[in-house]
Amino acid sequence: MSAPLLQVSGLQSGYGDVQVVWNVDLAVQPGAAVALIGSNGAGKTTILRTLSGLLRPLAGRITFGGEDIADSPPATAVQLGLSHVPEGRRLITGLNVEDNLMLGAYLRRDGRAAIRADIERMYELFPRLAERRRQDATTMSGGEQQMCAIARGLMAAPRLLMIDELSLGLAPAIVDQLAETLKTVRNGGTSLLLVEQDVEIALELADHVYVIDQGRTVLDGPSALIANEPSIREAYIGS
Ligand code: ATP
Repeated sequence: MSAPLLQVSGLQSGYGDVQVVWNVDLAVQPGAAVALIGSNGAGKTTILRTLSGLLRPLAGRITFGGEDIADSPPATAVQLGLSHVPEGRRLITGLNVEDNLMLGAYLRRDGRAAIRADIERMYELFPRLAERRRQDATTMSGGEQQMCAIARGLMAAPRLLMIDELSLGLAPAIVDQLAETLKTVRNGGTSLLLVEQDVEIALELADHVYVIDQGRTVLDGPSALIANEPSIREAYIGS
């Protein structure tokens, strides 16, 4: 097997004196899709925020593309190809869709033509955004805002796209549409790391799943095995 794109070992993290992540190990292989599942407050968001440099780990190693990024600022992670779509979308009020997409490319150094070409690629991937390119992004529907947030994340030209709660607050039909788009993104070579409360969507999109409970990894394995795990079926799938 090739070296993992992202490798995390012994990760500990939290907020001030409050530790919420304890000794988490995880890996994302190049081209893979991985999901973190677990109940509210388990620490999944905190893990993503630590990986992208928004929080500094208390301990542990984070390597991305072979580089140690545990103490790096968020801009370094983005420049290396690690892009984070935060929970709640966090679009900028007063900026239209296209300006939000441009913002996603702000650390790129490959020139206007490449960025312009990628904006057009985003409009092919999300035709709804093309129709709304001049609309204030925060006035769009929840599903459209999620499309914009994902497209903004992709505008960094990432090797790994991390998405926190793709499905939160969205109608099932929109979630299915977003899931199909993410399969296309992945087929294009971008790896995925998803934090997802909808376990069925997580199992559909990911090849490997980690179950996080109280800041610890309590179970992990290929999605097909996790899907048949009685404790998972009982806790999350309802059958
Ligand atoms: P959810 O799906 O509800 O977001 P989660 O698994 O992503 O859950 P986290 O958001 O990482 O969980 O939260 C883990 C723990 O950290 C929770 O107990 C939460 O209250 C705490 N926490 C989160 N953000 C902060 C913060 N800014 N300051 C202090 N504690 C925080």
